[in-house]
Amino acid sequence: MPGRILIVDTVATNRIVLKVKMLAAQFAVDVCATKAEAVSIIADNRPDLILLNLSDAVADQHSLCLDLRRTPDTSTISIIAVGVADTSRARFAALDAGADDVLPHPVNDALLLARIRSLLRVRSTSEELQLREGTSRALGFEEHKAGFDGAAKIAVLSLLTSGQNALVTGLRKGLRNTIHSMLPHDVLRSGAGQSAYDLFVIDAGEAAVGQSGLFGLVSDLRARAQTRLAMQLVVVPADKPEIAAMFLDLGADDVVPHTSDAAEITLRAKRLIARKRQHDKLRDTVRTGLNAAVTDPLTGLFNRRYVEPHLARLADQSRKSGRELAVMMIDIDHFKAVNDGYGHAAGDKVLIELADRLRENLRAVDLVARMGGEEFLVAMPGTSVTDARLAADRLRALVNTTAFKLADDQPPIKITVSVGVAVSGRIKAEASAINKICAQADKALYAAKSAGRDQVAMSKSAA
Ligand code: GH3
Ligand code: MG
Ligand code: MG
Repeated sequence: MPGRILIVDTVATNRIVLKVKMLAAQFAVDVCATKAEAVSIIADNRPDLILLNLSDAVADQHSLCLDLRRTPDTSTISIIAVGVADTSRARFAALDAGADDVLPHPVNDALLLARIRSLLRVRSTSEELQLREGTSRALGFEEHKAGFDGAAKIAVLSLLTSGQNALVTGLRKGLRNTIHSMLPHDVLRSGAGQSAYDLFVIDAGEAAVGQSGLFGLVSDLRARAQTRLAMQLVVVPADKPEIAAMFLDLGADDVVPHTSDAAEITLRAKRLIARKRQHDKLRDTVRTGLNAAVTDPLTGLFNRRYVEPHLARLADQSRKSGRELAVMMIDIDHFKAVNDGYGHAAGDKVLIELADRLRENLRAVDLVARMGGEEFLVAMPGTSVTDARLAADRLRALVNTTAFKLADDQPPIKITVSVGVAVSGRIKAEASAINKICAQADKALYAAKSAGRDQVAMSKSAA
């Protein structure tokens, strides 16, 4: 995952050490010593993430952190505080100042990189939410306000029973919320109410992590439809950074050392709940958020009217950040034959089912829209040619490997799609740039159809 990193540290050797590590991991890197320099670099060459030394008694660094958070334009840049003392109190202070995470000195390389990857994944979701709000405002619609948040649904997954578990007690007190408690693998048993969890706190603090299968649990929760949207906070052994890194790479949203005090764990849990709410809002925009004029009544997806201004914004964002933008056109093969053979109502069911499969299998940041008839568009910000190809193949397989069920008394029918993909190179400033990418994706779709359907074709030219 490429990205631009800014290192802010008053000590030259610290800057050099971190810079070498970041360059080795293929990031573009800027370094500076002071707040004034940082502010000017951020204005000229916006970083995706900042490594900020918050150990200094210099008020400068803390005020930089607060300023970045308060300014809407910079509020989504991720900040990792480094150089902080390895105590729960010091970590709490850095988190409270606005850092997304804290890596105490000396920094463990595996954990640092896993953290960066995890934060960059999240950051794109926040940016996408802002973009969508902008688009709906530009179209003249007030964003739906998810006014009533209700209580969060939280489960602690631990080998300890809730009575003896300080984690449960601490969270219950700190969050003033009901905390469910269960054995780790019980959550995977199918049962009622599973789907609604906002946060899983997984206790891997003292257990023999590998043996108790907790790595597998994290990825299983991430993979299953009922639990994949829930946030995961993993309590990890304090002295094993490589285990923490592994959990992050497997899909945990945050990790916290088991020696942390209840205040720090509660603060992290609160932030994850807030993030979950933000993600839910982003996903729900399609169903509830916007005026019917920009959604397709059959599938609930965005329609063409929404897509056009939104794509222009995505292209603009992509140009500013230098990240790629992938656009896919997906068209059902021989759809007319479905209507002719099974009736129009059956055709409608296929469209609804396909829309659901697409929606459920893309990231929250990806835009899915029905462009008309049996043609769908997917826009994926921050996606390289290789990743776009993988995603397109995955979506194609999602359709052709599981037949579509139309009615209980009918055998399911096999459906295939053709996909055309275009990925922007350096997007140009002119307004027509996005039209070019879409035209290329269209052309690629046509090539996939001509080549025999049920396949993916990549556009050769970059926008
Ligand atoms: P190809 O593989 O070349 O894409 O063939 P196709 O049959 O999918 O394409 P064609 O464009 O010939 O036909 C598209 C059909 O989609 C024709 C139209 O009646 C049908 N269609 C468009 N909108 C809807 C809809 O909302 N519901 C249903 N049931 N059918 C629709
Ligand atoms: Mg078709
Ligand atoms: Mg068509």
